[in-house]
Amino acid sequence: MPVDLMDRVVLDDLEIGEIANDLDDQEPEDVIEWALETFGERLAIITALQVDGMTLLDMAYRVKPDIRVVTVDTGRLPPETLTFLDEIRARYPKANVEVLEPDQAELEAMVDRHGPDPFTKSVPLRLVCCQIRKVRPMLRALEGLDAWFTGLRRDQWASRAAIKKVELDHDHDGIVKLNPLADWSKEEVWDYIAEQGVPTHPLYAQGYTSIGCGPCTRPVAEGEADRAGRWWWETNAPKECGMHCPIETGGFEHEFHAILGEAHGDDSGY
Ligand code: SF4
Repeated sequence: MPVDLMDRVVLDDLEIGEIANDLDDQEPEDVIEWALETFGERLAIITALQVDGMTLLDMAYRVKPDIRVVTVDTGRLPPETLTFLDEIRARYPKANVEVLEPDQAELEAMVDRHGPDPFTKSVPLRLVCCQIRKVRPMLRALEGLDAWFTGLRRDQWASRAAIKKVELDHDHDGIVKLNPLADWSKEEVWDYIAEQGVPTHPLYAQGYTSIGCGPCTRPVAEGEADRAGRWWWETNAPKECGMHCPIETGGFEHEFHAILGEAHGDDSGY
């Protein structure tokens, strides 16, 4: 059974292992219901508003209309994403949609050192940009949570092939990470979207299959993997921003810490 510490719900490895076994062959709606019942207000959908996150939002909204939904405006999103946010708010009016932004001091420190487009210079600097613009704001959201929903699926990329529907997120303070769509295929997601009339990001209609920041995303060609359009110019680099798995290039950490040091002083706490 979960242990209540003050008003927090904390699960240990043994408990989460048993729960994961029980829930791994359950339907996404069952996982969502269990999570909403278990974590209550200390649970949010963290999403970049792609079809997987929208599917989760639609499912969760049926159980808890005021579900908390967190996304990040990195400052480099395509305009279509911001328009789409308005559509989401209109379709799910009771949802508690929060749009986070990067820390201004961190952003200025990065741009001062590397200009507005550091991602064009090297993979380590692209990862720094992702950390400052996307991952760090998300981490601030996770600090107040006991659990978070993601739209990750096992068939999206090799780094995601082993995810479970329920797991302890040791990269983020041991809170619970919920991947209710883990065993769904892309086709199942799109079938749900069509059947339920869930709104989708307008760029899908232009050949995009994974949508992030404007300068770092492009449509994919026939037969390419869905995430092939992300940072497409990079070779031998993870198609990840660092939110869902630790990135170990050995190259970006020093620069990242230097930027945090400039922004906040050496006690930035990261
Ligand atoms: S996707 Fe590109 S612009 Fe967006 S945060 Fe990452 S590197 Fe920066």
